[in-house]
Amino acid sequence: MRKLLIAGNWKMNHAVAATVDFCRDLRSLGLEGQRAEVLLFPPFTSIAAMVSLLQGTPVHVGGQNLHQESKGAYTGEISAAMLKEAGCSHVLIGHSERRQYFHESDAGVNAKTRKALEYGLTPVICIGETLEEREKGVTNAVIKTQLSGALEGFAPDAVRKTVIAYEPVWAIGTGLTATPEQAQEVHRYIRKFLAEIAGDDCAELLRILYGGSAKPDNAEELLSETDIDGLLIGGASLKADDFYRIIEIADTINK
Ligand code: PEP
Repeated sequence: MRKLLIAGNWKMNHAVAATVDFCRDLRSLGLEGQRAEVLLFPPFTSIAAMVSLLQGTPVHVGGQNLHQESKGAYTGEISAAMLKEAGCSHVLIGHSERRQYFHESDAGVNAKTRKALEYGLTPVICIGETLEEREKGVTNAVIKTQLSGALEGFAPDAVRKTVIAYEPVWAIGTGLTATPEQAQEVHRYIRKFLAEIAGDDCAELLRILYGGSAKPDNAEELLSETDIDGLLIGGASLKADDFYRIIEIADTINK
């Protein structure tokens, strides 16, 4: 059985003061005994505060990006070793905002995933189609291209150490959510494709998260789908009580 993973992507929100408030609020709601795994991606400058304030809780902390080289003259970038040293266990790779605004390619996602694994960080690889692609009926083809590009050259053992996040671009930050059926259909396709490239065992173990306007009101129906193994949450992860509510909902799901 795959353990559900509830992850929050703060994007460029919550500097240190807001992070301190959030962590205090989250701790006061109670972080003991949850069945779901919990993960947060704060901005880089808030990582240290979060790691220290959530010490002793089961919450994992991740970076929102990393550079594919280990170190060097890459002004403005951050390395896998730096994230690791700051206390991160995970890293987001290929978020659609990175692809859209910073021109990240599947080859770049592949290189970053390789670097993350080399440093023992769990890559959370984001993939998803635009509205135009969905309307053209090429969603599966887009997913296949992104996934095969991201994982090309990886042995099943390496693939197994990743998490995939399916985030339809048209549902991110728009208030539009994929219906549970639409999301399940793509998740099923992703798992089938993973089985082809890395084998059935790997595909069965690997967690596939859904992201795109997930919130307390739709978490239960999304998480109830067979192949949805967690959520990657933007807006609704910024308030401790909304995020906590989703963790509570995840704990009620039996499948
Ligand atoms: C995201 O940023 O990954 C995301 C899914 O955002 P939102 O939940 O706000 O749509």
